[in-house]
Amino acid sequence: MKKESILNVMMGDHEKIIAILDGFKKCLTQDRITLQKIFDAFFWELEKHLFTEEKVIFTLYDHEEQKEFYSIIPQLMKEHEKILDELKQLKRKIKLNKECNTEGFMDLFIKHKNFEEESFYPKLDQTLDEKPKEFIINRIKEIKLDNSILKNIKVSCSECGKKLRIFEGYHHLKLDKRWLFCKACYNKIDEKTLKKEALV
Ligand SMILES: [Zn+2]
Ligand SMILES: [Zn+2]
Repeated sequence: MKKESILNVMMGDHEKIIAILDGFKKCLTQDRITLQKIFDAFFWELEKHLFTEEKVIFTLYDHEEQKEFYSIIPQLMKEHEKILDELKQLKRKIKLNKECNTEGFMDLFIKHKNFEEESFYPKLDQTLDEKPKEFIINRIKEIKLDNSILKNIKVSCSECGKKLRIFEGYHHLKLDKRWLFCKACYNKIDEKTLKKEALV
């Protein structure tokens, strides 16, 4: 069996969070209930992720020999706080039915992801002994992130109204992101726009 690393498990978590965020973006112009549902799921999974990370980080305090990490800890905690603040703002906007923009959150999250994946977790994997590493990996896996919301939520095609699963909906590059299409409608639009362009 392949040896697991903290980096690999955490990368899996980051991927799941980004997948839910992508799903959330596709729901931005669906009805409020759908949007709320996917946002709540997203928020909860992200909180689980940050909680897990903080637990991992704090176990480092138990290891005298890990002193070099001590300086990173406050920085990571501050980042987590910023991420949560950004999400709370989004939450307020959804509640007030205001237009949501996920760019700010995405920027923060990508920064967080890059720092952890490029330096923090690889370093942990390198310096921790097998035993504490295994302990940490098992703990992380106990708090499994769940992105099944992506399969369970239904959105509707802006053209024909057909109910779709999130990954079956498409945004058109040349049309406002408000519109989400099923594959059939998406293909028809493509033909029309292409024809129009040929005439110009
Ligand atoms: Zn993370
Ligand atoms: Zn359709």
